[in-house]
Amino acid sequence: MAMALMVQKYGGTSVGTIERIHRVADRVECACKDGHQVVVVLSAMSGETDRLLKLAHEMAPSPDERELDMLLSTGERVTIALLAMALRSRGVMARSFTGRQVGIHTDNSHTKARISRVTADRIKDALAERIVPVVAGFQGINERSDVTTLGRGGSDLTAVALAAALKADRCIIYTDVDGVYTADPNIVPSARKLEKISYEEMLEMASLGAKVLQSRSVEFAAKYAVPIEVNSSFKEGKGTLVTREDADMEGVMVSGVTGDRNQAKLTIVGVPDRPGIAAQIFGAVAEANIIVDMIIQNVSQASLTDISFTVPRADLRNAVDLVRRLAKEIEAKSVAVTESIAKVSVIGVGMRSHSGVAAKMFEVLSREGVNIMMITTSEIKISCVVDEKYLELAMRALHSALGLDRRSATPLA
Ligand code: ADP
Ligand code: ASP
Ligand code: MG
Repeated sequence: MAMALMVQKYGGTSVGTIERIHRVADRVECACKDGHQVVVVLSAMSGETDRLLKLAHEMAPSPDERELDMLLSTGERVTIALLAMALRSRGVMARSFTGRQVGIHTDNSHTKARISRVTADRIKDALAERIVPVVAGFQGINERSDVTTLGRGGSDLTAVALAAALKADRCIIYTDVDGVYTADPNIVPSARKLEKISYEEMLEMASLGAKVLQSRSVEFAAKYAVPIEVNSSFKEGKGTLVTREDADMEGVMVSGVTGDRNQAKLTIVGVPDRPGIAAQIFGAVAEANIIVDMIIQNVSQASLTDISFTVPRADLRNAVDLVRRLAKEIEAKSVAVTESIAKVSVIGVGMRSHSGVAAKMFEVLSREGVNIMMITTSEIKISCVVDEKYLELAMRALHSALGLDRRSATPLA
């Protein structure tokens, strides 16, 4: 293979122990020996970000977000320094860098900052000196030079943003699965590895619960046309290429099934049915920076209606406080909260030109006795909210009935 500039990102499991960091060093050394220029991006050791988050919440019920970022960004400092040591001890010149040192500039939204600009000067200098830069993923700095973090799974975004800024030939996301599958292989054992997938489908899959790639990293990759290769850091073999849609992708009706437990449902019961109420409720929710996913308003009876909607579980406490206050103001009867819901989705660009997927989905869920609480669709996906305890059953049943199982050849009737 010709000499290439490649960004290699390793996730938490891949750098979870000293032994595993040695294996990463082997892989980096190997690529260097093959004549490639390698830029490494690392996550924190697996479990570390969760551990830090827990500490913060033990210290304060709703910790200050600037301080939270200061804390969370430490996880990645540990792994980059350790890998640089491992590489140096085997004679590969390497140097670790924080997000700030490589110029990952972001906006001010702590814990979910957006990248505004990437300079990467120190990476270019290191490469020119034949030094392997080892960069902390998931972190940047805002205009005041305060540390920010890029949202959970944000090391993927660091890798893609650096690949774009450096015009790298390849951006490889090494993780604990050997590619993107038709469903999470840890939940659906019959899932198949996809050889390639379009940005658009990958973005839907990632936003609807497939955490193999962070959704914002996919959005960024699509915008700057960075092809992403997803592969295993534990074994050799071909992974999955995330790239522009091409003609053969359209022929596939459904390319994946996802599950998302990250939602909760609120119902405002007995809402007076008059114009302006929905605007009042959802205006206030949006102002509190809470992202509403699905909304259902029942047919009104006796001028009263029920409005249900879903919010991220992390925002539930704030949402409930806010909605209880609103309910009083608009003289609604009560507010009901359900945390144990989940969203199951099917995704595929082929749905644009084929009908029948939704009907099939509802039929399968009904056959399995799974009640559908809410439905949303877009051009290339259908999502249903169901009771959380049926999520895995629903995923497996849909995967099989839509003909995605590894051995199954059952076409969509
Ligand atoms: P890393 O720590 O390397 O960033 P993640 O845990 O963030 O890894 O992502 C990898 C995990 O994503 C896998 O272990 C798998 O359980 C999960 N996953 C969910 N959906 C999919 C899918 N469609 N294909 C592959 N993996 C998936
Ligand atoms: N360590 C961060 C997280 O756990 C970022 C990442 O792993 O990509 O979310
Ligand atoms: Mg990840």
